[in-house]
Amino acid sequence: MVFSYISHLYCPKCSSTYDHLKIQQLCICGSPLLVEYKIDELKRNLAPEQIQKRSASLWRYHELLPISSTENVVSLGEGMTPLVELKKLSQEMNIENLLMKDEGLIPTGSFKARGATVGVSKAKELGIKKLAMPTNGNAGAAWSLYSARADIKATIVMPIDAPKITREECAIAGADLFLVNGLISDAGKIVGEWINRNNIYDASTLKEPYRIEGKKTMGFEIAEQLDWKCPDVIVYPTGGGVGLIGIYKAFKELIQLGWLKSDKLPRLVAVQADGCAPIVKAWEEGKHSSDFWPNSSTKAFGINVPKAIGDFLVLDALYNTDGYAISVSDQELFTEQRTVASLEGTFICPEGAAAFSAIRKLRGNGWIKDKDKVVVLNTGAGIKYPDSTDVQVPILQPDDILS
Ligand SMILES: *Cc1c(COP(=O)(O)O)cnc(C)c1O
Ligand SMILES: [Zn+2]
Repeated sequence: MVFSYISHLYCPKCSSTYDHLKIQQLCICGSPLLVEYKIDELKRNLAPEQIQKRSASLWRYHELLPISSTENVVSLGEGMTPLVELKKLSQEMNIENLLMKDEGLIPTGSFKARGATVGVSKAKELGIKKLAMPTNGNAGAAWSLYSARADIKATIVMPIDAPKITREECAIAGADLFLVNGLISDAGKIVGEWINRNNIYDASTLKEPYRIEGKKTMGFEIAEQLDWKCPDVIVYPTGGGVGLIGIYKAFKELIQLGWLKSDKLPRLVAVQADGCAPIVKAWEEGKHSSDFWPNSSTKAFGINVPKAIGDFLVLDALYNTDGYAISVSDQELFTEQRTVASLEGTFICPEGAAAFSAIRKLRGNGWIKDKDKVVVLNTGAGIKYPDSTDVQVPILQPDDILS
């Protein structure tokens, strides 16, 4: 049995192709590279019913993942997160069908583990011993832990304001961790320079072609969990946009395979914060790339990305699916986080809360219809950010209870 149907890498900008058996980073034209599979061959050899019998991990889609040999898989049992029905919130927002894909229930507590399991596995397969990356926290944490499991030395550079727990995750895994007084873009510059000098594998967002392959499995899972039917809308908190590009790529591969019961892609929504909304601005202006967002700031740390290298891919995905880009304020997302927890009993992360808040707005302006089936990604666990809520915790004395 063939474990992976990977064919080669290609550039979505200039169409150059590359060999996946060698270490590759960006295209010579500067664009990220994407993975192409032998879809026609796979179509003949695999039916979706066969997938359904496999174990509940994202590796159930191994034919559509880039690892050639099963021995190189570095896994902690990630994927197949639940698609949770939110009946009370649906009713409150007047949406017939609102479902949350809960990525809080994954090793490391954020969906970054999807990118890490696939990215680190491929790095191992390529014989890489050292890698480096800038991060807003969750990616660095996940890559540190998966790298430890794969005997790869990780060097992580993160902003000093990133959630503290993610520092500890890097440190406990034995990664070299550096904190910078700045943004992820500043961390990226340091990593870039260091990598050039030392010839180290650059695991930055989209500078290696495999993290996105892990994240695309969210799209496969949503389709499979809905019995190979697309939802009408998928709402995603967008920083670097890898998850959104990945979900879009997943649905296109499923259509090529003929596995979907409809050929209409879900309308994709990119959600950003008012304090860092380069994709929203570009989309509103009808552009195909974004401008650096100066002095970006939001408490939803995972989406504080002032300029994404894959911005043109995010925007293409939005335009090609009749999607939408929208931003929300930190105040709005914190209010939504409380609403979701108190109505549905789920403590979502601030980034996920931004997505919920966006749904409320898009229902308000009529873009989301009452009959739409809407899937929202909660990209991480609220408990990873104990200091990022605006809830007032009452401090009561025993006497107060009894009086
Ligand atoms: C990284 C991250 C995001 C943004 O993901 P991208 O794929 O980079 O757009 C959203 N939420 C959380 C919790 C994250 O860690
Ligand atoms: Zn190119």
